[in-house]
Order: sequence, then C-alpha cells, then structure tokens
Amino acid sequence: MYQPGMKSNLLGLNQEEVLKLVESIGEKLFRAKQLYHEIYRRSELDFLQMTELSKAFRQRLAEEFRLTLPEVARRSAAQDGTVKYLFRLEDNRFVESVFIPEEDRDTLCISSQVGCNIGCRFCMTAQMGLERNLKVEEILGQVFTVAKERNLQRGSFSVVFMGMGEPLQNYKNVMKAFRLMTDPLGMSMSHRKVTISTSGVVPVLRKMHHEEIFPNIAISLNATSNTLRDELMPLNKKWNLEALMQACREFPIEPRRRIMFEYVMLAGVNDSDEDAEAMLRLFRGLRPKVNLIPYNPNPGLPYRRPSEERIARFRDILVNEGVTVFMRKTRGDDIAAACGQLAYMEEGASAGA
Ligand code: SF4
Repeated sequence: MYQPGMKSNLLGLNQEEVLKLVESIGEKLFRAKQLYHEIYRRSELDFLQMTELSKAFRQRLAEEFRLTLPEVARRSAAQDGTVKYLFRLEDNRFVESVFIPEEDRDTLCISSQVGCNIGCRFCMTAQMGLERNLKVEEILGQVFTVAKERNLQRGSFSVVFMGMGEPLQNYKNVMKAFRLMTDPLGMSMSHRKVTISTSGVVPVLRKMHHEEIFPNIAISLNATSNTLRDELMPLNKKWNLEALMQACREFPIEPRRRIMFEYVMLAGVNDSDEDAEAMLRLFRGLRPKVNLIPYNPNPGLPYRRPSEERIARFRDILVNEGVTVFMRKTRGDDIAAACGQLAYMEEGASAGA
C-alpha cells in the first residue's frame, strides 16, 4: 500500500484500495472511481494520458506513483502463431506466458509463481523448485502486456492459469487478480473466460467452494491410480485421488459448467485402455470434460509421446461412454512450449553465468 516517499506501483489495487489511496493523499473521493476506470477499463497506464482526470491530479500521480508492467525479456513466435513471452520481474527473476491464437477465440496462458514445488515428474518447471509467489501486479501485468501488444479486445480472449506454478498455492493473489479481471466496473471479463488449473491442492479447492464468484476449474489429473499418481505427482501422497475426486463432486458448479480434467498422455505410462477405463470409474457422480494433451517431448525428461493410434483409441473409450473430450493440438513445438521450459532455460543460464 501507499508509503510516503516511495513510488509504489498502483497496478493490482482493487476499488477499495484505490479509494483509500486517494483519501490518504487528500484528493476528492470521486477521483478514485475515475482513476480505477482509467487503469482497468481503459488500460491506460500513463498517468499523463488519463484524460478523465484533472491535469493537476495527473501530474501529482505521475510524480508520486507508477503503473509498471513486467519487462518482456524475449518473445518467441512459432509458425502456428503461438507466441511465448518471457517476462523479467523487478527482482530479475523470470516467468512465462503463452499467447495461443485460435479461430473462435484467443487464449492467454499465464503463470502464478516463479517456479513450483509440486514436483510433477513430467514438468520442466518442477526442476526449478519454488522461488516465490507472483504479486497481483505481476499476474495482471502478463495479461495487460499481451492484450495491449496484440490489440486483444475485451471479451475476445480467455485467460488460463496453466503456466508456471500451482495457482492454489498463491490463492490470495490469484483470486485478487481474478476479481480484478472480472470486475464489471474494470476489466469486466466473464468469469467463464478465466480458468484455474490445479494439481489438486484439495483444502484450497474446498475453500474455493465458498467464493461468491469463481473461475472455471481444471484438474491436472494425469494418472488414474494412486500408485501411478504418487509417482508422477508426489502431491497425491498428501491428497489422493479419492480426496480430490470427492472435492470435485462437491464443487458447487453452475448447471451448465463442468470441471475439466487435463491428462498429459505419456507413452507406455498412462495411455492404456485400462487407464481410460479407470478414468471412467473415477468420473462417477461427476459431469466432467477431458482435455487430452499428448506429451510434448523434452530432452531433459524421460517421457515419450504416444502414437496417434493409441491416443485415438484412448479418446474413443471415453467418448463412447459419453465423455466430452478435447484434444489439445500441440502448439508452438518449435519454441519450446512445454510448461516452464523457456523460463527454466533462462534461469539456468543466469545461474550458470
Ligand atoms: S505441472 Fe504445474 S503443478 Fe506440476 S510441477 Fe509443473 S508447474 Fe507445478
């Protein structure tokens, strides 16, 4: 919050905090609404260009505060239009976001933490460990930067928390960013256009049951037995499949919404007919949809992508039982689009220098 003498970043403040700030510097209270509107509705981050505000107030804001985004350290564009952004944070750490253009809508995949301590065996970010949680302005900064740069119109794109980090381990900041994105007086995104993907932090998932408005939920499933999930996702030893599926069954989703289960397909590990059948049993009492993600091979990890025939057979077993299945197209192959890979390489390079 506001500390006299320090130029603090106002990005990430909610309506109440903007009001307190305006009050604390002795300005008229109606200016808070104008300032909030300029930042979140007009995406105007240059105080001097905030035409809704009086000239004197603009000057004062510019002298005492800032509205800054994380710096884009690198952009890598793939032939299919996917663009990977590597952001440098103020403490010289890196996170990544991926912009995925699609015919019907664009998707922006963002990070919630620097690194991650969940330890999924198939994920490059896991090798970094957790460095820290992202601040609200760093989460929103990814959205602001990409939306501005690519001229994305409000309502035309979705945001998914599927980049680096486990969003439910940074719950407070992730939910505050979510509320800011969906505030009708500000960014006014539909809550149906924001998805949080979790590896299964069950107590926090249960906490989300009590939120007034919540985003779509995606569960990173990846195994259908506790033995395999313990191995692939060590967090399963703490909150196993039974606990996770029960929390999903009790999630108060709206009638037409469904929980997405994400399944990274690893050849010879979790792609058999028996795995598909076990998945159907796990889904009893649920209205699921499934996103099958054929593994994107990585030289640093021992897994392989299943054959097209195997993927199709697995999908058909689910579809024949009435499950809606999406197949994630492999996007951005030529730009190292596996989770956490670009930032991991950058951190590794810095550490080695
Ligand atoms: S897959 Fe997600 S939760 Fe698992 S280690 Fe990677 S970033 Fe963390």
